Amino acid sequence: MPVPGACRAVGAPREESTQITVQGFTVSGIPANHQHAMSQSNAQSILPGVVDVPVSLPGASPSRPSRGKITERIDAITRIPVEFRSPAPPVPRSVKIELTARCDFNCFFCATAKRLRDKADIDPAFYQRIVREMRDQGVEELGLFYLGESMLCPWLPEAIRYAKQDCGYPYVFLTTNGRLATPDRVRECMAAGLDSLKFSFNNADPEQFHEVTRVKASDFHTVVDNIKAARQVRDEGAFACGLYASSIRYDGEQLVRMERAVQEILPFVDEHYWLPLYGQAGLTAGANGTRPVAGNPGRLDAMREPIPCWSVFTEGHITFDGRLSACCFDHDGRFNMGDLTQQPFIDAWHSAVFQDLRAAHLNGDVCGTVCQGCIAYQS
Ligand code: SF4
Ligand code: SF4
Repeated sequence: MPVPGACRAVGAPREESTQITVQGFTVSGIPANHQHAMSQSNAQSILPGVVDVPVSLPGASPSRPSRGKITERIDAITRIPVEFRSPAPPVPRSVKIELTARCDFNCFFCATAKRLRDKADIDPAFYQRIVREMRDQGVEELGLFYLGESMLCPWLPEAIRYAKQDCGYPYVFLTTNGRLATPDRVRECMAAGLDSLKFSFNNADPEQFHEVTRVKASDFHTVVDNIKAARQVRDEGAFACGLYASSIRYDGEQLVRMERAVQEILPFVDEHYWLPLYGQAGLTAGANGTRPVAGNPGRLDAMREPIPCWSVFTEGHITFDGRLSACCFDHDGRFNMGDLTQQPFIDAWHSAVFQDLRAAHLNGDVCGTVCQGCIAYQS
């Protein structure tokens, strides 16, 4: 039932401009969480902690097999292939699973900081059961994160190893805010078989880092050093792990500052891309005067229409407490489509409530659904 005044025409053009002012600087976007994807050779080198790494060009490691472009993988998920445009689509190619809902940052634009639900870690026995089950069902890409910072999970390398070596996922990926991605930690993850490590790099300098994340300013340098060291770890170990970074796209003077910061890390990653500001299902829309884009249109250079939203069709999201969520921003449990501790993945993926939500997206009108609050549809 449409709610008068709450929705605008579905499929209507996105906001023409997302330029906003945040505590003295203008930005055009802040990404989603961390707005924050087989066995390989063993690491042999021991690095002395964080180091200054000589600049080497991306792709310079001759022994590292190509993993393709991360942007192509992202775009393939947000595109919604025709066979997935159904209330009961095939098993998704990609699933993100939340090892922990905790985070060591408190970014003002992220609903994680609002603590709208419990913040705990996944049960390892449940993790093993559901990860194997999903692989048996045909899931190929496993993201070991959702709405928290997985570097906080003590058994992260074991989780990677289980997915890659025991279950045989072709692609295991991870996004981190970077503060705890120390060289030792990164080496453990890469040695376990991690295919992709992406850093959310969203601040131009220590002052802005503190202002946005509410973590001490000097940790900005820790993040930058960790990105540089990750490249050295990867190259010296000849690990088959792609290294990536994404950033908020700023405007005006802030764009210049941010681009300068990105230039410093660019030689150390295989690919960098920009993301727009998301409103996180309406939970953070307007925070600190921000004006996000509609829904989750993907990355800035390949933005999709807000409806139908790819998040309900082409990617699964599993919370630490075993719920299948329809939304990439389910900070308050509103998008619970099934209880995976009690039912098989495919049953939750095809649950009646999930099929109803997808039907609304396919009909082009999500008013009256859990997606109604997404800033995409508000007048
Ligand atoms: S609060 Fe944590 S999860 Fe949210 S964007 Fe910041 S680093 Fe990412
Ligand atoms: S609230 Fe709905 S439309 Fe918005 S990002 Fe989440 S699933 Fe997509």
